Amino acid sequence: MKKAMTLTYEVGENLYINVTNRCSCACTFCIRKNDDGAYGSDPLWLEHEPTIEEMQADLRKRDLRQYHELVFCGYGEPTMRLGFICALAAWLRAEYPGIRLRLNTNGLTDIYMAEETRTRDAAAQLSAVFDSFSVSLNGGDAAVYQRVTNPQGAPANAYETMLHFAAAVKANGREIAFTVVDVITPEEIAAAQQQADALGIPLHVRNYIA
Ligand code: SF4
Repeated sequence: MKKAMTLTYEVGENLYINVTNRCSCACTFCIRKNDDGAYGSDPLWLEHEPTIEEMQADLRKRDLRQYHELVFCGYGEPTMRLGFICALAAWLRAEYPGIRLRLNTNGLTDIYMAEETRTRDAAAQLSAVFDSFSVSLNGGDAAVYQRVTNPQGAPANAYETMLHFAAAVKANGREIAFTVVDVITPEEIAAAQQQADALGIPLHVRNYIA
């Protein structure tokens, strides 16, 4: 495993932001199993989690206005550092008015970061600073979700919590899309589509990257 301090990296017209390697899931399709980076990036395994000063210094080196969106994603679940990403997003908003910020998340913050959110309402906290969200749906029911996502401790309410998070973000007026990766069967993708349709949230089917 190669480590570096790759805090930001370009993917298409967007800039991705890598804040942590921690994650509350162990998805069967996770890109981290097969590589040290993503989409041609330098290694995304971090020597240490960046401080806010390190992240700001890295971001200041770039012309941020050239990107369509800044995407909090990286090689881990960004909400494992909930307070940190909210502070960084707020700083970006203040320094670069009009910038678009997206969060890619497993939507399980209310389970794993309950102590930090206190209210178990991560959607409200995150909707205040992010414009758009990509949430991993990963299946049309709890059984498929557990099989594919493997949330730590296998909490019985994981699927329901993720759906609640997505619905709350939508209710808060933020842009949101679900994703599934095509490691599940066509029938399971159809069930995921039904679930997404029921919430009025678009679904993107992503190809598995071996
Ligand atoms: S939530 Fe993302 S980082 Fe975490 S295991 Fe799944 S794909 Fe990997």
